[in-house]
Amino acid sequence: MSLPSEVEVLVVGAGPVGLVAAITLKKFGLNIAVVDRDISNRNGSKATVLHIRTLEALETIGMVNIMVEHGVPTNGIRFTGGSNKLFDVDFSLLNEQTAYPFAVMIPQQQVEALLRKKLKEMGSEIIVCPEVTDYFYDDEKKAIRVVLADQSVIWTQYLLGTDGGRSTIRKLANIPFQDPQTGIAYEDKNSLGQTIHFALADVSFEEPLLFARDYPTFCLDPFLVCTPVRPLIPQQTETLCRIVLGTLKHIEVPQSPSKEYLQAELDRRNPFKERLVIKEVFITSRYRVRAALAETYWKKIGNGHVLLAGDAAHVHSPVGGQGMNLGICDAIEVGHAIRDHIEAKRTLSNGSEGSDLDRILQGYAEERRNIGVKVLALAKRLTRMVTWNYGWRRVVRNVVMRVAGFFPSLKKAVAWRVSGLGNGVLRTQRT
Ligand SMILES: Cc1cc2nc3c(=O)[nH]c(=O)nc-3n(C[C@H](O)[C@H](O)[C@H](O)COP(=O)(O)OP(=O)(O)OC[C@H]3O[C@@H](n4cnc5c(N)ncnc54)[C@H](O)[C@@H]3O)c2cc1C
Repeated sequence: MSLPSEVEVLVVGAGPVGLVAAITLKKFGLNIAVVDRDISNRNGSKATVLHIRTLEALETIGMVNIMVEHGVPTNGIRFTGGSNKLFDVDFSLLNEQTAYPFAVMIPQQQVEALLRKKLKEMGSEIIVCPEVTDYFYDDEKKAIRVVLADQSVIWTQYLLGTDGGRSTIRKLANIPFQDPQTGIAYEDKNSLGQTIHFALADVSFEEPLLFARDYPTFCLDPFLVCTPVRPLIPQQTETLCRIVLGTLKHIEVPQSPSKEYLQAELDRRNPFKERLVIKEVFITSRYRVRAALAETYWKKIGNGHVLLAGDAAHVHSPVGGQGMNLGICDAIEVGHAIRDHIEAKRTLSNGSEGSDLDRILQGYAEERRNIGVKVLALAKRLTRMVTWNYGWRRVVRNVVMRVAGFFPSLKKAVAWRVSGLGNGVLRTQRT
């Protein structure tokens, strides 16, 4: 697809968040383009779970059934200490609150592939082009001039940055990106040695597979997660497992953990009597936990608008599987906010802009940022909790978790929070 010279909305970044935003905007019949500098290397599996609020969000763009079909629905997540059950997060307890009282285990690259297909069916495709390097508001043209690395230009009124944690769109808008609790900036590499590191890998195991095939298991002593997912290639029949191994501060994880590294770490952590043997490693990665939130998700430049969604607006620990979920909900919400803003502008006879109108975009920015603050805090709490593997903290944590399991209202409250339902209803659910 070739680069248009002008669009109403330009989406920069075609990860899951940019794709969902593009589909939402396209559904409203808006003139959009979605650009990305590189979609060839999207194999590294990152997120693996879609939570309830995200499924509800995906329903608004007709994408929920297909995600369920390609994923593995699960009633919950099991936490264990060694091989003993500590606590079940049970989403089925929410069956009166939602049409989808379950989570879906599905690799992020599968989610993206399905979204790309949908966008294509709607008559749009990702434009793979040199990266966006600059933009500014042009008073004469009354539009944002977006410049790519090869100096080609696209004009737009709404520039949506869904370009990930290192977002160029956010940086060029001079929007600070830091941990709201500590004030540490995302770019501050010195803090990395102080954080928790995770080794992640998609692997198959020699039989018997000792983990459950129908729900994720979080072993806490020491930290090891296994989320079973369907293989991406239909010919491959064996269950794949996304394993996550957490290490404490100051212990470096290699950038691409090898099979030997993963097997040795598994052997150290194996909660079962039998040995877990990795058969094949498909993808590996490392995640060094940092938390950061954009100071604002919306900035007006001239009469144009710069908006942020997804990792461009927030990054945090993967524990709890909230990152992609939060981003997809942002994407639906920003799509609605932009549509509402455009419609309100059109109904103004003189076509002028004003602060009343801007409240629509400001509303998006404030609501979603407030939710971002809550989710960052939740991810931090969960990360702390799962890495208390030594001394009295471990003992207290395990007792509290065991006891909590006897209180249905407490169990429901945890499911409510983890599922994203605790983040409040979406704009679409209000109208
Ligand atoms: C190793 C790892 C493990 C993770 N595990 C989990 C998990 O278990 N659960 C969970 O929920 N989340 C997890 N996450 C987080 C999750 O992957 C992200 O929240 C999600 O990818 C965010 O999607 P996004 O669309 O906002 O950004 P991204 O997926 O980062 O996509 C951004 C896109 O923008 C493009 N781009 C960037 N800059 C430019 C530019 N200047 N011009 C043009 N294009 C540009 C990039 O090429 C990219 O395609 C994990 C992340 C990592 C790295």
